[in-house]
Amino acid sequence: MKRSLCTKRSIYYFSFFLVVIFKLMPAFAHSAHEHGAAKVDLAFDGLSGVIHFESPSSSIYGFEHDAKTAKDKKTRDEKINLLTQKFSEMVILDPKGGCDVTAKKIEPFVKEDDDHEHESEASSHQKERGAKTIHHEKKEGTHSEVHLEFTVTCKASLVGTSVKFAFQKFFPAIKKITVQAINGEKQNGATILNDQGGVGI
Ligand SMILES: [Zn+2]
Repeated sequence: MKRSLCTKRSIYYFSFFLVVIFKLMPAFAHSAHEHGAAKVDLAFDGLSGVIHFESPSSSIYGFEHDAKTAKDKKTRDEKINLLTQKFSEMVILDPKGGCDVTAKKIEPFVKEDDDHEHESEASSHQKERGAKTIHHEKKEGTHSEVHLEFTVTCKASLVGTSVKFAFQKFFPAIKKITVQAINGEKQNGATILNDQGGVGI
């Protein structure tokens, strides 16, 4: 009992450590909201790891507004279930690791800060002529993202293996994945187009 408690606690601290790394590293900083593009950040230390996933909601649900109707809520719940249950078939770790991938944090609607909206608001005082354009931009400024965090526990080390991707089988709208990976002191990154290629970890 004591041992499992201790393990749980160390996993907790380890996760915290990884979250700190994600926040501090410029490479892991929040990237621009781009339709069709998703972001996968992996961090491993020994047999434990964390995977962050971010995608514009449009690629997951087909819309970016908050789900209010029964139909939209159903779509949202089905797609979130698909993502959380089949994630290890979308971000494919080498089977030799024998890894368990478990959803830890699910944020189905993260409102996206619209930087250009603020810019156009600021410039609205200077450019009266731009009023129509500003209105149009504001209307388009409703964006949201799906953010997920998974914990990974492996039986064998993944050092020297490669991560593969198969999002399009489940979410055909995801065309591009920006991947960042840390394994111990090793860092790697890649842009994956149409699930082609992999990232060494
Ligand atoms: Zn959007």
